[in-house]
Amino acid sequence: MSTERTNAFHACPCCGWWGLEYPAYDKLPQPPFGDLGQPPYNERYGSASFQCCHCCGFEFGYDCDPAASGRHGNFRDYLREWAEAGRNWFRPLERPEDWSLPAQLTAAGLPPLDQ
Ligand SMILES: [Zn+2]
Repeated sequence: MSTERTNAFHACPCCGWWGLEYPAYDKLPQPPFGDLGQPPYNERYGSASFQCCHCCGFEFGYDCDPAASGRHGNFRDYLREWAEAGRNWFRPLERPEDWSLPAQLTAAGLPPLDQ
């Protein structure tokens, strides 16, 4: 898979993976993301796409909705949990051989996990 970025794809605001077919939320800005704040994200960033990131598996509109998912954390909490659980891709076959989470976070303008 090409790592070249095109306007055809969008970045995941949780892990920075650059392959979403649709923006995670209607009004989510393009990277660099910086600090995206706290949920509910749809109030700040518009309607969620309800797609799952192929990398971290975050489902926009579900994992950020405590009433639906039972989760109360933000993107960073989800990412930290996912990373500690082994960084397993939601679609493992799409994981590039030379993939690195720190590089992916940096490319999307997201802070490293240890901050
Ligand atoms: Zn992701």
